[in-house]
Amino acid sequence: MSAGLVGTQGAIRFSRTRGRLGGSQDWGLQYPSPFFDIAHTYLPATVKQMFRWCRYYFLVNPLINAVVFKMAEYPITDVIFDTDRLDLKDTWNSILMEHLRYRSFQIEVGLDYYTYGNALVSVFYPFIKLLKCTECGHEVPAADAKYNFRNFKFHWYCPKCDHHGPAKVRDHYIRAIKGIRLIRWNPEDVDIHYNDITGEYTYYYQIPGQLKNDIIIGNSHGYAQLLGQSAAGCHQHHTRRSLE
Ligand SMILES: [Zn+2]
Repeated sequence: MSAGLVGTQGAIRFSRTRGRLGGSQDWGLQYPSPFFDIAHTYLPATVKQMFRWCRYYFLVNPLINAVVFKMAEYPITDVIFDTDRLDLKDTWNSILMEHLRYRSFQIEVGLDYYTYGNALVSVFYPFIKLLKCTECGHEVPAADAKYNFRNFKFHWYCPKCDHHGPAKVRDHYIRAIKGIRLIRWNPEDVDIHYNDITGEYTYYYQIPGQLKNDIIIGNSHGYAQLLGQSAAGCHQHHTRRSLE
């Protein structure tokens, strides 16, 4: 009866699609609902899978691409510095427009929002990571120290007392405009957990595989210094880091 579409292997093969389709060798495909067809089995099962399609259509469909760009760009006006003091105007102009590229950043956030339906941003403040000897208390910036980033710890020889072992780590935040960065987190890399009871959202950054490997094996290119705290998070959650 159903030899063409469903041979001896056919029903089994189709039934692998996450159990949405039944199917027997006698009766061919049996759909759980008369409104289901084969196309329904290709619907994205998770939000993350859907995001990939969102990105795909944004990139390949000329109409969607143009609409998303326009929606993102249209509401962004020029920044107005509402003051009579020229020095303040200059300062904020150089911070927002030249250094942070605030206007294009706003448009980029809009692109995220209208492509994925969500946009996640944060401000990165510059800091210096300091390594402190556990024996003598000698402290030096990690950038100037010779260390080995192993097992999520900074191993080093203290230059003062020659003690060898993992150093104590401290982040010292510096007030430098130049180091401030606006970060757009890719919604495809962020897991959002909602707590039904407290009504709170927790955001987890799913560290991309390549970056995670670089941190773990110590091939850091400075990531270890930058992400010392994250690396600890990476250790705890294996792949995730809370963004809060
Ligand atoms: Zn020491």
